[in-house]
Order: sequence, then structure tokens, then C-alpha cells
Amino acid sequence: MKKLHVFNFWDRLQAGMLKDILAKEGIECMLRNDQLSSAVGEIPFVECCPELWIVDDEAYPRARLFLDAWLKNEPSAQNAWICASCGEHCDGQFGACWACGALHD
Ligand SMILES: [Zn+2]
Repeated sequence: MKKLHVFNFWDRLQAGMLKDILAKEGIECMLRNDQLSSAVGEIPFVECCPELWIVDDEAYPRARLFLDAWLKNEPSAQNAWICASCGEHCDGQFGACWACGALHD
């Protein structure tokens, strides 16, 4: 078993989504520290960060590729747009240009 990725404490949801994606690809994986338990406060903060582990070592390289592709294609990056009036790159989560305020159509 190999550790694929350690998520940020607040990326619990993301960790669960990635696990589902990998499972659909036939890559067996498991999440550690995915529960906020009563142990929080008794164990070091970092131990509460969700960790994604690949059960089958041979599937690790494939899982790695999926992770990299997935991290690159996070929704905010996917929907990034270019402002028509000033040419600035804007994140998909914004409905208006952060530089000039023009609305995204
Ligand atoms: Zn603009």
C-alpha cells in the first residue's frame, strides 16, 4: 500500500471525490483520517488531514497520473475565462473581471 496524496485539512470533500473517481477506474484506494472524530484535539492537527492511499502498489503509477490530471482540472481552473475588455485571466468562480470589473458573458 502506498500513500498517494495528503489533502489539506479542509479538502475533505475533494479527497472523497478523488477516491470515487479512482474507484470507478478500478483502482482500489482508501482514505485515512477522513473522519472528524472525537480524537481531534487529542492528536496533532496534521494527523487529521485526509490521506489517500493506493491499496495495490502496481496501480500507483496510474493513480498518480489521475491525481495529477485531476488536480490540474479543478473546477476553478477549468472554467477560467479571459476578459473580453482587458484580456486578463479570471478564475471561473468570478462572474466579473477582477482587473477591470467587466462582466463575464
Ligand atoms: Zn477585464
